[in-house]
Amino acid sequence: MSLAHLLARQALTRPDAPAIYSGTTLWATHAQWAQRSAALAHRLRAAGLQPGDRVVLFMSNHPRYLEILWGAWWAGLAVVPVNAKLHPAEVEWIIDNAQARWGFVTSDVAPRALAGLQHQIDIESAEADALLAPLSEAVPAPHDSAPGDLAWLFYTSGTTGRPKGVMLTHRNLMTMGLTYFVDVNAVDAGDAIVYGAPMSHGCGIYAIPHVMAGARHVVPASGGVEPAELFALGQALGPLSTFAAPTIVKRLVDHAEAQGLGPDDAARAFKTIVYGGAPMYLADIQRALRVMGPRFVQIYGQGETPMVATALSRRHIADTTYPDHAARLASVGVAQTPVQVRVAGPDGADLPLGEVGEVLVRGDTVMAGYWRNPEATAAAVRDGWLWTGDMGTLDTHSFLTLKDRSKDLLISGGSNIYPREVEEVLLTAPGVHEVAVVGAPDPEWGEVVVAFVVAAPEQATDAAALDAHCLAHIARFKRPKRYVFVDTLPKNNYGKVLKTQLRALAAQNPN
Ligand code: AMP
Repeated sequence: MSLAHLLARQALTRPDAPAIYSGTTLWATHAQWAQRSAALAHRLRAAGLQPGDRVVLFMSNHPRYLEILWGAWWAGLAVVPVNAKLHPAEVEWIIDNAQARWGFVTSDVAPRALAGLQHQIDIESAEADALLAPLSEAVPAPHDSAPGDLAWLFYTSGTTGRPKGVMLTHRNLMTMGLTYFVDVNAVDAGDAIVYGAPMSHGCGIYAIPHVMAGARHVVPASGGVEPAELFALGQALGPLSTFAAPTIVKRLVDHAEAQGLGPDDAARAFKTIVYGGAPMYLADIQRALRVMGPRFVQIYGQGETPMVATALSRRHIADTTYPDHAARLASVGVAQTPVQVRVAGPDGADLPLGEVGEVLVRGDTVMAGYWRNPEATAAAVRDGWLWTGDMGTLDTHSFLTLKDRSKDLLISGGSNIYPREVEEVLLTAPGVHEVAVVGAPDPEWGEVVVAFVVAAPEQATDAAALDAHCLAHIARFKRPKRYVFVDTLPKNNYGKVLKTQLRALAAQNPN
């Protein structure tokens, strides 16, 4: 069974139910969506594409994103959705690595012809209209892909080195989709997901459970995250669910606060906001709960086990009566249903509870491997266990708390320092809006702690005040030796702070 069958099923059982919206305008019913995707599949196969071939999507968010994803799966092809903020040269590297010959683009992100593609289709062109126009003959059934066939080639963010193509199969994504209902968010046919965050990443992957449930899919007219627009869409189309990186959640909360909106207003606009992909700091989620009420669920996953490692449920997040609620909120929750999660030392043996080690995950969501990279696959997946590169610790109730990625850990004077811990403390200091902590090389200490701080506009702060705050809250050796005040932190399109860039900056400016 393939992911295409999910749409075929909705088209048969609920053909006239609304499926895709562009802003508040209906774009397609389930029947229309399936007809367009099936027609695209038929024409791609007629043009010579074979099951297993890769097609690239280098697009900003668009209703046709969904039609092309399902069209490719209908034909038995694998999709390669690419981060819309990449430089064309980086996309060309991915096209070459994925050996893709066809690509679908939007002209805003791909202003020129991309080397390596034989066919580049602007999805707003007459050619795209023709490819998606319903067939006059009978609609072909979806290609019978096997569960282990490649469905999605997900290129890692490549914050260190070249990106790697994570091979996700139909089984991986089917399991991810079913798990969503159990561990993240129950969905019924009247629900709607909104794609504010990039569809090439977690937000787009969550299309799958929403197709499974026959729910509606809303693509904002802006194609991105405009908090006012998202609130208005929620008011118009019913409470929405979405996936957002912590920085996006922060923007929604800022907006709600600035507009004087409270939990009741948020409840009308949003059913569930799933956050993950980067650390959510304690102070930020506490404020989000206060302003927008109990509509948050956290997930922790990575491309290699998409959206599925652990989850912190709405109930756990909302239960402020739990004695250790703050520690729970700072955790990423418990293993999601289809996976086992453990914390191990370098030899792969389990560590005692409370000790920090690498997070390992095993289950049906774990990737089939890295595309054309058996060495990297062998290093990442050993005896079925995925070595995530994240460091964490388990408590007695199996809640996982992440420390940092193993490469972000810094060692100063022989002591391990987890930047996340220092960041959590600095964020509770008055006058700090955002912060990122990295290590800089130091002849005496090996590495020293450097904090990049975005000051809050309404309240002044300085290095001396922040140093005093750290002295009051954490061990002396963890205190930043230097503070660098910046206007913004460098982030990628998925909201992750680019620590490699900050480390380079910190190393360049010793004082
Ligand atoms: P990606 O493969 O681009 O989705 O990035 C996955 C990485 O993001 C993980 O390995 C973690 O380092 C980080 N990450 C994902 N979810 C969370 C979370 N809930 N809290 C902290 N970090 C996270």
